[in-house]
Amino acid sequence: MADDDCAVGVDIGGTKMIVSFVSSEGRVIVEQETPTGSKAGPEEVIRTIVTEVARMRDRSAEKPHSVGIGVAGQVDERGVVRFAPNLGWRGVSLGPPLAGALGLPVRVINDVRASTVGEWKFGAARGEHDMVCIRIGTGVGGGIVSGNRLLIGDSNAAGELGHMTVVTGGRKCTCPNSGCLEAYVGGWAIAERAREAAEQSPAEVEGTLRRARVKVSGLDAGTLWRLASDGDPFAQRLVSETRTYLAAGLVAIANVFNPRLIVGGGGVVGSTGRLFEEALEAARPQILPSIAEGLRSTRAELGANAVAVGAAAWAHEVRRT
Ligand SMILES: [Zn+2]
Repeated sequence: MADDDCAVGVDIGGTKMIVSFVSSEGRVIVEQETPTGSKAGPEEVIRTIVTEVARMRDRSAEKPHSVGIGVAGQVDERGVVRFAPNLGWRGVSLGPPLAGALGLPVRVINDVRASTVGEWKFGAARGEHDMVCIRIGTGVGGGIVSGNRLLIGDSNAAGELGHMTVVTGGRKCTCPNSGCLEAYVGGWAIAERAREAAEQSPAEVEGTLRRARVKVSGLDAGTLWRLASDGDPFAQRLVSETRTYLAAGLVAIANVFNPRLIVGGGGVVGSTGRLFEEALEAARPQILPSIAEGLRSTRAELGANAVAVGAAAWAHEVRRT
């Protein structure tokens, strides 16, 4: 391997941080997990990253050409974290001080966008020129590759698939809008819809809770899916509605971006059997035929280090273009 064939990828999570050296082929050369220590403030997190990278440089024969940093939050093109609620950061300049301390170019990227690049370059969407990655966890995020380029947007925020309106005047979202896809299929929203449905039909939900041996607060996406699979009518109704809302979102995604592949990932997708695939099949007849014909779906392939590997993939990609 050439000396400069490696990039550093960092995933700054709320509690833990992953630092990886990743080759241009997606091979993880060396990887380290460490507590983020975000309570001590951004300066301390920056110091930890610098220390870890220095230690890994000493241990590895590879000399990284640049660094990619994935952060759960809004990040601008200068490497400033505008808002990262998990870290409690607002207006934190991350890229410039890290670049100075490491002596390497640093690219800061939103975590979901990073995992999109990871799937595109090294995972389920390898070789695809037009793909959309949708991650449905507590929140709903995504990333779009169009014409073999990641869509960035004017303020570095393109790809917020969770905040497309699927119901006009619908449920309040965590963003300024209401009726967003996330307000129906995000993990928090599924739990909230289950709570409300339980309040409306207490007699019906009683049997459901007894069978599941959970309280109303335990009715999350995975539990509802299992109950629905066992024939529980209350859970079946909620799962069926979730499928319909997700299908509405997928129709819009397909028609707007004309991807060949939609990659699904995140905790809700992972815990609800084939709900994601069923939603796409429900959506297909409503998608423009010329777009629907070539469209297929798959699951995200990268695991727990997807953001770190994706951030490194982004560093490789920026260097290439
Ligand atoms: Zn929203």
